[in-house]
Amino acid sequence: MKESTDKVLKSTCSYCGTGCGVEVSVDKRGRLNLTGDASHPVNKGMLCSKGRNLHYTVSDHSDRLLYPQMRWSKSHPMQRTDWDTAIGRAAAVFKSLITKYGPDSVGFYVSGQCLTEEYYLVNKLTKGFIGTNNIDTNSRLCMSSAVAAYTQSLGEDSVPISYEDIELADCFLIAGANPAWCHPILFRRLEQHKEQHPDIKVIVIDPRVTDSCSLADLHLQLRPGTDTILLHAIGRCLIENGDIDLEFVQNHTDGYEDYKQKVLSTSLEEAAHICDVPLEQIKQAASYIGNATGFITMWAMGLNQSTEGLSKNLALINLNLVTGQLGKPGSGPFSLTGQPNAMGGREVGGMATLLASHRNLLNPEHRKEVAAYWGVDHISEKPGKTATQMFEALRSGEMKAIWIICTNPVVSMPDARLVDEALKNARFVVVQDISTQSDTLQYADLVLPAAGWLEKEGTMTNSDRRISHLNKVVSPPGEALADSEILIRFARQMGYHGFDYQNQAEVYAEHCSMTRGTKIDISGLSYERLKKEGSFQWPVPDSVHPGTPRLFTDSQFYTASGKAQIKSDTPTNLTEEPTPDYPLILTTGRIRDQWHTMTRTGKVNKLRQHIDKPFLEIHPHDAAERGIKEGMAVEIENSRGSVQVVAKLTDTIKKGVVFLPMHWGKTLQNDLTRANNLTSSVFDPTSKQPGFKFSAVEVKPH
Ligand code: SF4
Repeated sequence: MKESTDKVLKSTCSYCGTGCGVEVSVDKRGRLNLTGDASHPVNKGMLCSKGRNLHYTVSDHSDRLLYPQMRWSKSHPMQRTDWDTAIGRAAAVFKSLITKYGPDSVGFYVSGQCLTEEYYLVNKLTKGFIGTNNIDTNSRLCMSSAVAAYTQSLGEDSVPISYEDIELADCFLIAGANPAWCHPILFRRLEQHKEQHPDIKVIVIDPRVTDSCSLADLHLQLRPGTDTILLHAIGRCLIENGDIDLEFVQNHTDGYEDYKQKVLSTSLEEAAHICDVPLEQIKQAASYIGNATGFITMWAMGLNQSTEGLSKNLALINLNLVTGQLGKPGSGPFSLTGQPNAMGGREVGGMATLLASHRNLLNPEHRKEVAAYWGVDHISEKPGKTATQMFEALRSGEMKAIWIICTNPVVSMPDARLVDEALKNARFVVVQDISTQSDTLQYADLVLPAAGWLEKEGTMTNSDRRISHLNKVVSPPGEALADSEILIRFARQMGYHGFDYQNQAEVYAEHCSMTRGTKIDISGLSYERLKKEGSFQWPVPDSVHPGTPRLFTDSQFYTASGKAQIKSDTPTNLTEEPTPDYPLILTTGRIRDQWHTMTRTGKVNKLRQHIDKPFLEIHPHDAAERGIKEGMAVEIENSRGSVQVVAKLTDTIKKGVVFLPMHWGKTLQNDLTRANNLTSSVFDPTSKQPGFKFSAVEVKPH
């Protein structure tokens, strides 16, 4: 790793979707130095605790996968092998399964942490050459409800605004998100704005009093799952107060009359009762929004990870549409991406239901365009299996093999014991990862060691459509290879043409040229420009274009009519209800200093000091009813499984609701700290995003 110099190279933090810029150098003793990039428009030099400690995850190789390993059958031991043998075996098994059972018998499950070039390659490989659309990603667990809502409301998966709009707004509605912990630098910008302008209003909707409530002028502590009703009630107040922008609604939207009918069909008293929120607070929220000159809605997993995720997202976006707060400075809906490159993955179509450059898999013309571009006969019209569907298909035997890249589904997927069974039942499991600590490795037949952050080159897109270039700063340890290189070697071994890339810039250039003429056109954004001029927000359609901070400034939307669609469907309630056996509602989420399944942040001492073991947040009233005291070992259970952790009594959580952090996985002894033993794989019918945030459970002393 000590080959570098004192030269300072730029990169982007590889945790949350905020996308903070960093500067990295290697000193003469081979030590990595990392600071926030003061010239970066997102973070202006600031970094949160996770970002500040990123370089320790790179310089510590003690947990790294260093060479390929494989076993010849499930009864054989895992053994070290060389790359040629590993790739040869992967190709032989995939060819044999595809020949015998068809291309839909195999699939790829990748990650919102992959670089755009890697996403592009695996998508091309799967959809263009293997001939299946079974390529999905953990972004399915993160942003797909927001994607579906943007597409239905605005015509395309397009985040309209920019971070600079934060400093221009005077009212914020943060729903189902805790940016103080999960998007800390974005939250810091909001804090600074509020410090300078104490009169701006911040409304938080969350069943827990989170750190984000420290800024709140109003906290609506709703009953989990009732977000759509609450947001519609706020909409009703806006109508009754005369705070609808009728000019905008009439000229630039469709569907307002249906919306009005829908929101007026539930009285405010009834909504307040269902949501368990004081009526006065609903009116107050509407009054803040109605008086705003710049109104931003922000949300994350609290709305997305729901069996009614689409409906909740639409209900929130509608508040921007009916008030005309979109397409102008300091206003608009702003989904907070959970992962650093979930958006880049969507740009290249790296999901089971998408095609490259926001093309539609169900559109025959779009399939033809992509096939022609890749020089293949056709793209299958059959939508691929989404994340949870792939694991169900592996469990049932419908799918035979899966290739998992840069993600740890044994911990992160809902109903994790189903995932255990699926991987146990699969004929062939490839795990391509950087860490020996991934719980998924235990099911691998083939282990491929990958390069990590700073060990490879590529691009990522953050929450506000900003594309950044990430430099390679150090070499990967052992025999680890960049994910792109592994995929290219596999494609060539399979005999596929079209993978003769010399470097990442060529992969990126091919992706850019496919965007030409689309709404995400970045044909004017080369590697050279990114390296020389820094990050850009798409679209960037020509080589002198400055990028696009804000979309829809002309109120022309990407729908067929050019008008935004105010959708007010009645969601199909697929959420399980509490029962006498399982009377509490479990919600899960992140803690401040850990990331996903802790394979990186878990090895940094400083980050473990914040919270070092899993816990259950429970209201003192619910605890007393069960004889539970602070620090007591408790068991949380439902029909899917159980979890054993210590109880943390707090009145910051709503009565009847309990919270588990999502990070901890299986230990050597058992899997009883894994929160996803309890969650359900039932998903939103449109977005196919599972409902992690609502599971019926019971808790008892252990
Ligand atoms: Fe990294 Fe997100 Fe923290 Fe920025 S806010 S330093 S992107 S984890």
